[in-house]
Amino acid sequence: MRSFIDVSPGSDFPIQNLPYGIFLPNGSTRARPGTALGDWVVDLDALEKAHLLPTKVFSGSSLNDFMAAGRETWTLVRSTLQVLLSEDNSRLRDDMDLRSLALFPRKAVTMLLPAQIGDYTDFYSSREHATNVGSLFRDPKNALLPNWLHLPVAYHGRASSIVVSGTEIRRPKGQTKADNADPVFGPSRLLDFELEVGFFTGPGTTIGESISIEKATEHIFGFVLVNDWSARDIQTWEYVPLGPFLAKNFATSISPWIVTLDALEPFRCPGPKQDPEPLPYLRSERDSAFDISLEVSINPPNSDVENVVCRSNFKHLYWNICQQLAHHTSGGCNIKPGDLMASGTISGPEKGSFGSMLEITWRGTTPVQLSDGTERKFINDGDTVVMKGVAEKNGIRIGFGEVSGKILPSV
Ligand code: CA
Repeated sequence: MRSFIDVSPGSDFPIQNLPYGIFLPNGSTRARPGTALGDWVVDLDALEKAHLLPTKVFSGSSLNDFMAAGRETWTLVRSTLQVLLSEDNSRLRDDMDLRSLALFPRKAVTMLLPAQIGDYTDFYSSREHATNVGSLFRDPKNALLPNWLHLPVAYHGRASSIVVSGTEIRRPKGQTKADNADPVFGPSRLLDFELEVGFFTGPGTTIGESISIEKATEHIFGFVLVNDWSARDIQTWEYVPLGPFLAKNFATSISPWIVTLDALEPFRCPGPKQDPEPLPYLRSERDSAFDISLEVSINPPNSDVENVVCRSNFKHLYWNICQQLAHHTSGGCNIKPGDLMASGTISGPEKGSFGSMLEITWRGTTPVQLSDGTERKFINDGDTVVMKGVAEKNGIRIGFGEVSGKILPSV
């Protein structure tokens, strides 16, 4: 399948991908839904108004209505778009007036948050990450707490401070305490990233209702990259007994394009073997891991070189997205369209695949060398952290674009 719009071979956004986002054309004040195709953005509101889509969900400035519409509608819109944009379909290809109305160069738009995010949950589903953190903060012999292999652990995060890629991040201030010293208040000195992938939920449920593991994908719209910025010194002092608070709530960055489950279907794969066997409500015969390569780079100011500090893969996650959603709702907690559920830091088994500086530098004991000759234990002011993700097979490349954020000094 090819489009009449030229898509370069290395592009993250061929016609097989068609991720959804909210964009603002330069010079316009009206944000609207779009899909990415090569170096272009296709205006879905314009196509809907031209009666080329089977929906009435794209006139607003978020994707929540489309998310609420459900899987049948998502699949229908996707197949309609693929037909409309294919090289042998003349409807849009030869309608120059509509093309000038509906096609924008990606360089000429600003991407915004794709949804009004009502709630944000952050899981802790990588066994390697949980083991590393347990070893660093507690005891290497009992790194995993007793519940970890029985349920997908998570905490409820802060939705109001989720920002889109490119937003600058102010180094947070907070209370910290060194060993044998009194607590102090000031800028965090151990600012970190966490490499994560999150999914947006689709149709909502009512309080008291649960989503079975078999029905979970009916409620999963698609994925974004997530950087769960973390202030390790604030976290160390505050996290007992109720978990992270100000160490995490100052900002979370996400990539702007939501890659759909339909686009990622060819990349479904088995996850890690689960032992002990999960309880029945978390059991499924179906593979629900996805083979998505992930990488993180730290780029100091005035540097053009990408310093890759981590290469990991979404398939390493011990608890999969269906188990996460089934568990989240098993007690009767409702979900709404546009909730964000992040995976937790995705660390692989080897050192080069750890998804946070905490693990990469083993709490600062083995610093990373950057190409400009400087070294990092954590993230400095002026550094830009960039995360990328791509699934690739048989010449088809389903990319996520990136989530990036530059660190500004505390004020
Ligand atoms: Ca996290």
